[in-house]
Amino acid sequence: MFCKKISILGVTGSIGQSASDVILSAPEYFDVQVVSAGSNAQKLAQEAIRLKAKKAVIADERKCEELKSLLSGTNIEAHAGDEALEALAGEPCDLVLAAIVGFAGLRPILSALKNGINVAIANKEPLVAAGALVMETARKSGAKILPVDSEHNAIFQCLEDHNRAAIDKIILTASGGPFLDWDIKDINAATIEQAINHPNWSMGRKISVDSASMMNKALEIIEAHYLFDMPADKIDVVIHPQSVIHSMVSYHDGSVLAQMGASDMRTPVAYALSWPERIKTPGQTLDIKSLSKLTFLPPDLDKFPALRFAYTALESGQNAQITLNAANEEAVDLFLREQISFGKIAKIIENALLWADKEAPNKDIKTVDDIEEFNNNVRSFVTKSIL
Ligand code: NDP
Ligand code: MG
Repeated sequence: MFCKKISILGVTGSIGQSASDVILSAPEYFDVQVVSAGSNAQKLAQEAIRLKAKKAVIADERKCEELKSLLSGTNIEAHAGDEALEALAGEPCDLVLAAIVGFAGLRPILSALKNGINVAIANKEPLVAAGALVMETARKSGAKILPVDSEHNAIFQCLEDHNRAAIDKIILTASGGPFLDWDIKDINAATIEQAINHPNWSMGRKISVDSASMMNKALEIIEAHYLFDMPADKIDVVIHPQSVIHSMVSYHDGSVLAQMGASDMRTPVAYALSWPERIKTPGQTLDIKSLSKLTFLPPDLDKFPALRFAYTALESGQNAQITLNAANEEAVDLFLREQISFGKIAKIIENALLWADKEAPNKDIKTVDDIEEFNNNVRSFVTKSIL
């Protein structure tokens, strides 16, 4: 039996809650060190107490006193601010679960990896914007990156112990989201409630909107490129509305390996947390006999141009990848604040990619400071362009 010292970044979110469930159903395997949140002090304190964490850190400094008072009378230390979060993410432990949403998770991930700590990564945006830096930081320190995203977790399972040179393609499955059968006019005018109403998965708001626009799959193509060191032409996407097969790897002898499971993130979270072992999870199990059919179809790139953007960004390089992610984060934020229509999201991203191609095709972006600065420039460009 193992017992891992584990820190959970983004414990109050959807993935964070899946992780709490997994840990609380098998507490003998985990010793929780640090837990973090963005601004929800109440829920952070509650999770820190439930998980018997040693330290809790909230990114929003204005919530510092509230967190301290919620944790008074416990032995749990309270910390606040981005710098504290970055420092605590790098404190010695066996595994950090990266489950912050968006680019904001980049520095904490780098902090853990620099210190040689293995990272179970759900937080895909830093891999899209800074994939080369993230992977290089892990390589240098010898830290391992364990994919949590269900597709990448599936591929990770299908790749283990197999000959990488024999891989023909990795095939990411996509449910198609809530708008799979809608026509373009209705998609463009979709409301927030319609966009976040995912047919198979219950997730945070940002990734739910990304799933509706298929930007989630676009981000996942780039995520797969970095995680598995795969060229763009070996990464395929297929629509599979039932979300039973979480992804596949096809080998050059004709074998196709698939990983299946219920649409429950507790399964990939548990595998990433317990790897290389497997633990029982409180999640749903797949009832194979109840499946009447599994269907597959090609994605419609006219209705969902996001996938095209991902391949373009992979071909263009890092500046385009930062742009794709930053423009999307800003556009989704604007949509969720009812400033723009759903249809405008794709237009904003396309426009930002054209701008980056003209403005910064050869801009030398290497360090985390460079990446952060360019990320901020893209976001300001987007806000100015919609005024
Ligand atoms: P949620 O919005 O549910 O949770 C986000 C978490 O990040 C919360 O703990 C939130 O804290 C914290 N947070 C938000 N902003 C900041 C910030 N600026 N600094 C520090 N912490 C912050 O997101 P999800 O759990 O859905 O997604 C998390 C990541 O995992 C995303 O990158 C997503 O793409 C990826 N993912 C999610 C899946 C899912 O099923 N949900 C599946 C596969 C990947 P607070 O509660 O205080 O706001
Ligand atoms: Mg996914």
